[in-house]
Amino acid sequence: MSKKENLYCYIRVSSDGQRDDGGSLEVQREWGQKVSKQKGMKYVELYEGSSSTMIRSEEQFFESPRPIYSKLKDMIRSGEVKHLWVWSPSRLHRDSVEEEVFRRFTLIPNKVKLYVGQFGGEVPMSTPNDILNIRISSIFDQQIKENVSYLSRMGKIRRSNTDGHLGPFMGGTINFGYRVNKDKFFEIDKEESKIVRQIFKMYSQGTSLKDIKIYLDTNNIKPRRSKSWSLGSIHKMLLNRFYVGEHKWTDKKTEETYPIVVPRIVTHSLFNRVQKKLTFNQKNKGSNFKKHDTLLCDFLECYCGQNITGHVKLTHNTGPKKYYYCHSKENKWKGVNVPICDNRRSLNMDRTDELVKERVKDIVEDSSFLKEKFKNDVLSQKGKKEDEIEEQKRLKQVSIDNLNKQLDVVFQSMSKNEVNHLTKKTPKQVYVQVKKMLDSEMVDLEDRKSVLVKEIDDLDTQKDWVDWIGKYSDEITNTFSDVTSDYLKGVINKIVVSPKMGKGRDKDNIQLGHELKIHFRYPIVNDSIEYNDPQNKRKGYKVINGKKIVKDMVETNKGGRPKKKQKKNG
Ligand SMILES: [Zn+2]
Repeated sequence: MSKKENLYCYIRVSSDGQRDDGGSLEVQREWGQKVSKQKGMKYVELYEGSSSTMIRSEEQFFESPRPIYSKLKDMIRSGEVKHLWVWSPSRLHRDSVEEEVFRRFTLIPNKVKLYVGQFGGEVPMSTPNDILNIRISSIFDQQIKENVSYLSRMGKIRRSNTDGHLGPFMGGTINFGYRVNKDKFFEIDKEESKIVRQIFKMYSQGTSLKDIKIYLDTNNIKPRRSKSWSLGSIHKMLLNRFYVGEHKWTDKKTEETYPIVVPRIVTHSLFNRVQKKLTFNQKNKGSNFKKHDTLLCDFLECYCGQNITGHVKLTHNTGPKKYYYCHSKENKWKGVNVPICDNRRSLNMDRTDELVKERVKDIVEDSSFLKEKFKNDVLSQKGKKEDEIEEQKRLKQVSIDNLNKQLDVVFQSMSKNEVNHLTKKTPKQVYVQVKKMLDSEMVDLEDRKSVLVKEIDDLDTQKDWVDWIGKYSDEITNTFSDVTSDYLKGVINKIVVSPKMGKGRDKDNIQLGHELKIHFRYPIVNDSIEYNDPQNKRKGYKVINGKKIVKDMVETNKGGRPKKKQKKNG
């Protein structure tokens, strides 16, 4: 008797969770072993693990993440595998096209015998009729699979349609702060949501991600799956709009998204404050330079979108050279994809600092009368003002919550319309009209919502303003006080730097200098007041807002040729 032949048994567990043909890992293994014994062959297991059988793109077709499947093909080509068993052809292949390719180019040319199922029946492949049979069953197999997937999707779409307002859970991971009840709806988890609010609050008040992590870990507050918090997961939480009640379920097949309203844990005010902090901190990270040594690096931004940072170069004859420049070149060298930037010249740091300081101080001082008034009228009742702001914010948040409910009704109607269209319940014309109507209603509601979000933002700015006035009320009236980075933070958002181009000495186009656009946080550029009754100033006044942006120029140092200055004199 010759040596026992090997029966290679390919085993894979489906990760789609939609198709259950009873082929669990244990069942597949057991039957593989039984079939081997019955055929008098040695059981050799090829275990793929769990992988998806969904093919959604051409790339996915050619690059299947199934290492054992690829290895199997090599083993067949090298002549090692002559007998192959699988629970069902759909365990081996993802669709009928893949199955056809495998049979024609791998199995048949290498004369491999394929056995299938509980009894290990050999799949005949020698006559055209055999091939036809295989093709037919393969196509039916795929049809079943696609049907199951379609029904699952339709179920989800229907669920978002009928239950959207209740925040249905459509699968996937559950965000920290929530749980899913037995009817599969999102609910706020009391204990966890407190922690979520705490995390948002801490970050908005300036606690770093690292310190939040330390706080959570040392207070024995644990995330769901791991022992300790990661900076990434806290960061992700802070960015997640889920916590203001906005969630979208995406149909992977059509890439269409279905909005779902979930219970809100944090207010828009808090969420927005956190987003601003995140953007600010993102902008100022990754720079190796001592940024606090320079006055403006937190504010300077190149028109090309890249950061402008400060640098100090030490030279022995002329003393330190201090300048600001756009980072696009350095980022380009690092291989980052950056837009072309014409801001090739650097800015002289001292001159730029002086210019900005003077400008900001002038504008704040010009506005000092207003500020003095503001201080008397508002600061003396600061507590009251703050309460008022808080109450206004609360009312606006209530309106947003109401708009969300209305939006939800629209979302439900939208999904219902989609389902009716897909199931051909409504004529196409009706579908198109309803869709148009609902789309415009959604846009309208979202517009109203974004206005309210903006108003909450303005109220927050007002509150910042009250705080800043409290801190710098002396400096505003004291002309000799120095302008610090912290002072600037209270009044300006950013300074955008663009190149100022023009004709050079040889009539060529060169950069003559830089244009600075200082963006103030408040409309205080040339603001004024208007008395209710100019004859009787006691009757009060109202403040007329000024602009928020002021422009300025820094000329490039031409090396001892102060051409512009001479012009000024003449
Ligand atoms: Zn630039």
